[in-house]
Amino acid sequence: MSILVVGSVALDTVETPFARIEETLGGAASYFTTAASLYNQVNLVAIVGSDFPREHLDFWCNRPVNLKGLQIKEGRTFRWTARYHIDMNTRDTLDTQLGVYADFHPSIPDEYRSSRLLFLANIQPDLQMEVLEQVSNARLTVLDTMELWIITTRPQLTEVIKRVDVLLMSEEEIRQYTHCASIVAGVRQLLDMGLQYVVVKQGSYGALLFGADGTYFSAPTYPLEEVIDPTGAGDAFAGGFLGYLSNVEPQQDNHYAVDEIKRGVVHGNIIGSFVCEDFSIGRLRTLAMDDVAKRYRSLVEYSHFDSDWHSR
Ligand code: AMP
Repeated sequence: MSILVVGSVALDTVETPFARIEETLGGAASYFTTAASLYNQVNLVAIVGSDFPREHLDFWCNRPVNLKGLQIKEGRTFRWTARYHIDMNTRDTLDTQLGVYADFHPSIPDEYRSSRLLFLANIQPDLQMEVLEQVSNARLTVLDTMELWIITTRPQLTEVIKRVDVLLMSEEEIRQYTHCASIVAGVRQLLDMGLQYVVVKQGSYGALLFGADGTYFSAPTYPLEEVIDPTGAGDAFAGGFLGYLSNVEPQQDNHYAVDEIKRGVVHGNIIGSFVCEDFSIGRLRTLAMDDVAKRYRSLVEYSHFDSDWHSR
């Protein structure tokens, strides 16, 4: 089953305390597309400028990625510059240049409109809503966002949240959006807006899954000795999550079993961990399902503990 993604394709300049890379392939949809295409066909809807390097398109052409919905327009590609702090979990955005995104409107090709799996990657909530209006029959819609939209376009973001099934947010974003100091209280507020699940991204500490049905699951993170660049880990998480689910049959009620959702979160964490091992999509280029399976087994081992305990 193919997956539809709409979001940013960018040229990123990233500085960490240890290294710097300029104008490398970035953008939320780029990370997602590369990650999810390890599992299944991805239909990408985005826009790039005439300066976008051809090699990136050639790379996707050699994977199960459909580029029919990628517009190439005269002008400059979206550019983003950021600097990471020493903990590599926090960063400052130094510069954002919208370029051709300034007057972009997603146009979903007819054959993608009946997509069952949809990822609304990070772009303006207004544009995410335009996508939802064109794709009416999805089985699972997953939304990502960022601090910028929580601050500048909160009402529009709220309308999008009300229309999707799964929301991915970092701990900090949940506090900003809900004004709750407690993450559990903040998630409750979000679930009350009609979401099925909220995934709380905790950077190098893993991810938490909360369900409207009372589900709670803490997904472990793979312990990396060296983080080169965490950019795109959240988008790659979404790629692993939806990529995994794209190969799973839903239940009779058309929903995914909770255990499958949990496995999806673990796949998300694994793919997110691989992204951090190199700049841009570097590590994803050569990533194979065997590598994912190995890390999956490790995480099962690392997070298992014996239930056979009795208090005296
Ligand atoms: P993440 O590390 O998962 O938050 O994703 C980082 C990616 O988001 C980078 O590759 C950026 O190009 C992209 N990005 C940053 N700011 C924006 C924005 N305002 N709109 C869309 N994408 C953005």
